[in-house]
Amino acid sequence: MLRLYTHESCLRHDPGPGHAESPLRLKAVLQALDADRFAAVDRVEAPRATREQLLRVHDAAHVDRVLGSAPLEGRVQLDPDTWMSPGSDEAGLRAAGATCAAVDAVLAGQTPRAFCAVRPPGHHATPSEAMGFCLFNSIAVAAAHALTVHGLKRIAIADFDVHHGNGTQDIFASEPRVLFVSSHQSPLYPETGFAHERGVGNILNAPLPAGAGSMEFRETWHNELLPRMHAFKPQLVLVSAGFDAHRDDPLADLRLGTEDYAWITQQLVELARAHAGGRLVSSLEGGYDLRALAASAAAHVEALLD
Ligand SMILES: [Zn+2]
Repeated sequence: MLRLYTHESCLRHDPGPGHAESPLRLKAVLQALDADRFAAVDRVEAPRATREQLLRVHDAAHVDRVLGSAPLEGRVQLDPDTWMSPGSDEAGLRAAGATCAAVDAVLAGQTPRAFCAVRPPGHHATPSEAMGFCLFNSIAVAAAHALTVHGLKRIAIADFDVHHGNGTQDIFASEPRVLFVSSHQSPLYPETGFAHERGVGNILNAPLPAGAGSMEFRETWHNELLPRMHAFKPQLVLVSAGFDAHRDDPLADLRLGTEDYAWITQQLVELARAHAGGRLVSSLEGGYDLRALAASAAAHVEALLD
């Protein structure tokens, strides 16, 4: 059994014609999850994140700026890559609200695992800045929610998006209750995520060179990132699920296939079973080739259902 959190407002956030982070991305993912093999997926409408939830990881000026910047028509630019359209504020609230509701549901035992099919993505958003298509850092909001409301002591965040989750790292760099592990292409936007960035010993970055594929990706997770996560014994596993390390993705140069997303998901499900009572919450980050994104997200969700 698996719960899927989404909201139609996440389809209305529109960064503009030709922008890679298009509403068509989420449409493609949801369409792929309409297949018969996903009949057991329970679709739930994502609630809005509350101001209190957002303020656990973002400063008030940032929250006010995002919530006050959505235009009535046209678009407003927040950084070189990040735009808001009418309804972008609502989409950001639903994306962050989805991850918190999913954490509540898995910790209440209503479902062992949950996938948040939402946009905009979140892992580049820092405490004080929107960047890299991201408004609020949804996975970080979820981790802070689990720490504060549910009193968890060890939460692991796995980020396999091709870009480094600089925002998530910034937010938790001095928080030993959160382990953040990431594989990503380097050098690449946002030019962070080097191995020497270790936080208070709670950050583990595994940069991969352009051209790296399935073998390098699996070796890195098998030899470095997963053993570290197992040693941490997380009570909850969170996943920043970006699918832009796929070989067909136009924004980066790693060479993963859909089967690699099934593999890493199975590993994370096993990790959650071993330490966290099976509890895992995943949230959609990047992935910009529509066909590769749909197939990879479907492989991810299928492995979550298993
Ligand atoms: Zn990405």
